[in-house]
Order: sequence, then structure tokens, then C-alpha cells
Amino acid sequence: MNENAKPVYLDYAATTPVDPRVAAKMSGCLLADGDFGNPASTSHAFGWNAAELVEDARVHVAALLGADPRAIVWTSGATEADNLALKGVVEAGGGGHLVTTSYEHKAVLDSAEHLASQGLEVTFVAPGPDGLVAPSAVAAAIRDDTALVSVMHANNEIGCVNDVAAIGRLCRARGVAFHTDAVQSAGKLPLDVDRDCLDLVSLSAHKMYGPKGVGALYVRREPPLPVAAQMHGGGHERGMRSGTLATHQIVGLGEACRLAALDMAADNRRMAALRDRLWAHLKQIPGTRLNGSMEHRLPNNLNVAFADVDGETLLMALDDVAVSSGSACTSATVEPSHVLRAIGVPDELAQSSLRLTVGRFTTADEVDFAGRRVAEVVHALR
Ligand SMILES: *Cc1c(COP(=O)(O)O)cnc(C)c1O
Repeated sequence: MNENAKPVYLDYAATTPVDPRVAAKMSGCLLADGDFGNPASTSHAFGWNAAELVEDARVHVAALLGADPRAIVWTSGATEADNLALKGVVEAGGGGHLVTTSYEHKAVLDSAEHLASQGLEVTFVAPGPDGLVAPSAVAAAIRDDTALVSVMHANNEIGCVNDVAAIGRLCRARGVAFHTDAVQSAGKLPLDVDRDCLDLVSLSAHKMYGPKGVGALYVRREPPLPVAAQMHGGGHERGMRSGTLATHQIVGLGEACRLAALDMAADNRRMAALRDRLWAHLKQIPGTRLNGSMEHRLPNNLNVAFADVDGETLLMALDDVAVSSGSACTSATVEPSHVLRAIGVPDELAQSSLRLTVGRFTTADEVDFAGRRVAEVVHALR
């Protein structure tokens, strides 16, 4: 690799580049000769055209979830969608108890902690060493006053995939609302809100080749699930989320979802082959261990511990490969990842772990380069 080349990007779980087809759609909504109108302007064609684009996007996002388009609420991203789901259901009077897990994304964990600080009782179910949350553990945590259960579909650090359909069914049987953060799985694993008994689902565009700063929350309509707004204003989005709709962002999320549905099988096959090729390189390094189940895992994720090497040092030395230690949100601190801790990885091994995630634009050459570089750097540091 020559000195001017950018590092190889293997951090698709942190964010993805925007697909050129998505960018093309978005750029049609910005300039004076494009559809720049305010979708809430009902008195002229500028508004009508923008509103039509927003409603088309709603159809594509809903289709990815097998949902009614009217059940999609636009947000500024999945952090907001997770906040709206947890705080919104609890504040709407859902009850006095919340069940979630100890390895959720911070958007869920910190929302749960906030609610706990206001007096809500919260049970944090622990995942097993395989990185999976047992449906039976969730069932055991549900009480008569439980307002909501929130369990992520796929974990953002270890890529392990929970059986949300089993959890959804048991929540429905107990009459408890079920939220899942599907940010990492959306576009990779099929979801169907009716079949899987999902009441609330969080999505983010920038994890699926859309732009940063937009996401969505699916909110069940039948029977209606009360969700208290966290943002007050003009009463947009059926009163659940006020604020002028960001047409270009929403159109970007819609196109990202349309492409994800179209390309899902082919993308997954490509990514799984690249991921396995990368693992074939890495597993030859002595003292290498995969964190979490390989079987129940996203097709693009590896999270690997390299015994006797410090992860931060490894990360710094790997200046031509862009990967992450723990999750991107916590990489500013030196605390071991709360996810790896939650699945019982000892702190020294958690500190020596890297997350490597491939994506739509990864090539076999990049994977071979990265695999060789990681091996060289690990050997050099030991
Ligand atoms: C990235 C991520 C989020 C936050 O999404 P933003 O749109 O960046 O706010 C939430 N949950 C999971 C699992 C994520 O990976």
C-alpha cells in the first residue's frame, strides 16, 4: 500500500459511507431547482412534492420491516429513536418497571439509567458467554408492572444476533410492549413486525449506507401504543416528534432501505465470504480468540481478542487499517468495553480486542492486506 493511500476501512459497524445511489437521490432535494420545499407546506407544489418524497421514503422504510408506513416516525437517528421508545412508553404511563440488557448500545442503557434516576425500576438481563440473550432470562425478568422490554437485535460490538421473534412472542403473551434496537441488523437480517411481535423498532440511516443524522422509530398502531413525545413543537409525526422534516435525509434513509431490501441476499453472501477470509488470516495468529458466537452473528462482524497485546497500542500501530477497539462511542475512554465485560471476557482480553467489520464496498484485496498487517503488528508488539 503506498504512503498516500487512505487506510483500509474495516469499521462499517461504526458508520458506512453513503451509497452513491442514495447520495444522488438526496441531492435532488436541496437546490432551488430541486424538491427543497417544506413537506408541511400544504398550500403549494413545493410542499406537496417534498411531502410526496417523504411518504415514498416512509413506504420503503416500512417495507423493510413488513410494517404499515403510517407506523414510521422520523427521528434524528437511532439515539433519538431509542430515547423516544424507552422514555416515551414509560412517560405515557406504561408502568413502573423496565427490562433491558446489560450490553445494549449506550442510547438504550443511558436512557434506562435516566429513567432509573427518576424512580423507575430497571432490570438489566445479562447475555450469556455466547453473546446472546436467552429468551427465558427475559421471561424471568418480566413482572406484572413491567412497562417495556428492550432487547437489541444484533449487538454493535460483537455482532451477535438475538432471537427477537422468540422474545417478541413471549412479551406479547404477557401483554408487555417490546422494543428492539435493530440498527446493526437492518438491511442484513429480515425482520417482520407482525410475525416477530415487535412493538417498537429503532433504525439509523448511517449504519446502512444512508446519511448521518436521520433514523426512524417504528411504533405499533394496532392496538395503539401510547408514546409520549420527547420533542414538542408543531405536532409533526402524529404528535410523537415535532420538527420540520429533513426531506433530503429522509429520502436518503428511504433509498438506503429500498437498496438494502433489493441487495440483501447478495450483500450478505459477499460480506460473509470476506469476513470468513479475514478470519482465516486472523485465526492463524497464536493466542487469537473470537468474542461471542460465530453461528449467531452478523455476516460482516469479527470481534477478536489477541492475548498479551494491548488493544489501544495495537490500534495505534495499525495506522493503515481503520478498525475499532470496543465500540466507537467508548473509544475515547480506556475502560474495557461494557459489552465484552457483560459476556464475561476477562478485562485483559477485552483490552486486547478489536472489532473488524466489512461492508458493501470492502474488497478481497483490502481484507488480505488487513489480515497480513494485523498479524505483523501483533507479532511485532509481542
Ligand atoms: C449506531 C448505533 C446507535 C445510534 O445511532 P445514531 O443514529 O448514530 O444515533 C444505536 N444503537 C446501535 C446498536 C448502534 O449501532
